[in-house]
Amino acid sequence: MQSLDTRLLPRSQFLTAVSQYFDHAARITDHPPGLLEQVKCCNSVYRMRFPVKRDDGSIEVVEAYRAEHSHHRTPTKGGIRFSLNVSQDEVIALAALMTYKCAIVGVPFGGAKGGVRIDPHSISDGFRERLVRRYTTELVKKNFIGPSIDVPAPDYGTGEREMAWIADTYSMLVQNELHPYACVTGKPLSLHGIPGRREATGLGVYYGIREAMSHADDMEAIGLSTGTQGKRVVIQGLGNVGYHSAKFLQEQGGAVIVGIAEKEGGIANPDGLDVEAVSRHLKGTGSIHNFPGADNIATPREVLELDCDILVPAALENQITADNAERIRAKIVAEAANGPVTNDADEILRRRGVFIIPDVYLNAGGVTVSYFEWLKNLSHVSFGRMSSKHEEVTNRNLLAAIEKLTLRSLEPAERRLIITGPQEIDYVFSSLADTMSYSYNRIRDSWKSKGLPDLRTTAFYLAIDRVARTYLSLGIFP
Ligand code: NAD
Repeated sequence: MQSLDTRLLPRSQFLTAVSQYFDHAARITDHPPGLLEQVKCCNSVYRMRFPVKRDDGSIEVVEAYRAEHSHHRTPTKGGIRFSLNVSQDEVIALAALMTYKCAIVGVPFGGAKGGVRIDPHSISDGFRERLVRRYTTELVKKNFIGPSIDVPAPDYGTGEREMAWIADTYSMLVQNELHPYACVTGKPLSLHGIPGRREATGLGVYYGIREAMSHADDMEAIGLSTGTQGKRVVIQGLGNVGYHSAKFLQEQGGAVIVGIAEKEGGIANPDGLDVEAVSRHLKGTGSIHNFPGADNIATPREVLELDCDILVPAALENQITADNAERIRAKIVAEAANGPVTNDADEILRRRGVFIIPDVYLNAGGVTVSYFEWLKNLSHVSFGRMSSKHEEVTNRNLLAAIEKLTLRSLEPAERRLIITGPQEIDYVFSSLADTMSYSYNRIRDSWKSKGLPDLRTTAFYLAIDRVARTYLSLGIFP
């Protein structure tokens, strides 16, 4: 039984942090206070309580939320999380981050977030399905979901299976909807999903770190060489985002994963941990501890303090606080999770010269690929269906002409590489890489050219300006 009246709780540290980041950046813009207030405030929140039958037949009254932070663009977009920490403040803070995130990576959505106050690790599959279907029904009843209204996605404690139940429930309840599957993203591939969505956030984290580490002067300032090759990385949380961040950093970036934390504690090995093998061990034994060749660490917090070049918090908010910020030894903190660093910790880390790649940019890979999935669901055709074969024929003709001219034939493997038309996953990954690279350099250029204090302030500044300009173009504000 879990009941808690969130009205009695003080404003959460996380919402305060997002609000302060906003205020700090808003002061740099020259927009009037009324317009900034509109950009900052949460447009609507739906707080619900509904009954769900437990496996033994008894009833649990579940507390859940959906916050739509900004309707300057619709639909609104944002994940649904299952966690005991869920509160109204938390979903509002996360929804606000979504608005700014979308603006930063040029995805035309307003921000939203959903939350269900439940422990995702302690519920049965049956209870989980009944809960997701009931939550979706509540959202439909109040017009808080739909392809042109508000489009959820996975977040902490949820994944493809939950998204499939949402799509199915929505399509049963809403008749005459031409695009019912565009009501949610992060669906399984077999149910109108898109290849690459599962790994998108973690892959985007890798692309973002790679881009940040390509700038020699920034890396020199913190005593690192450019590139991820050989860099020592610590990961907090081996769920969707943490696992994929670690995997791509290791496999594509040549980084050495020296420590991993999960909720029960952590493991470390200065010679490197095989991410795939650790993930298998975690699934097989139910704990990250006792991985062959690694040292056990008692608590997840201690893992954050390991000696490393890059620390990737990929679990929950408020993990690096004023209490432990002085002991963080990483030179780069790459915020894969939302809000892992509190305001006071942010100040301490920056004073100590730590380079922070902010969440509001770094974990935007998920919503970017969700945008591609939504477009695919609206058009009812996969990317490349109309062009892939045509490109292949064109390449084949071009290659034949070149071979004829040069009197040279290529090896079969070389031919295949040049001729084969792109698959849907190639479009997704190349567009994701381009988005992460372009957005980083846009933030960095403004940071340098305007002399702003850091990447986070600059990212917020650019996002606020973009949303404010949308309102200005509507003529609502003078
Ligand atoms: P997830 O549920 O798949 O994984 C989270 C993991 O963290 C779990 O394995 C959990 O056991 C672990 N964990 C919980 N508490 C921990 C602790 N104290 N120390 C170490 N590990 C701990 O969730 P996810 O989807 O990977 O989301 C992680 C973070 O990334 C969240 O902040 C979420 O908002 C953010 N995010 C997720 C996405 C996405 O596409 N899933 C997109 C953007 C941002």
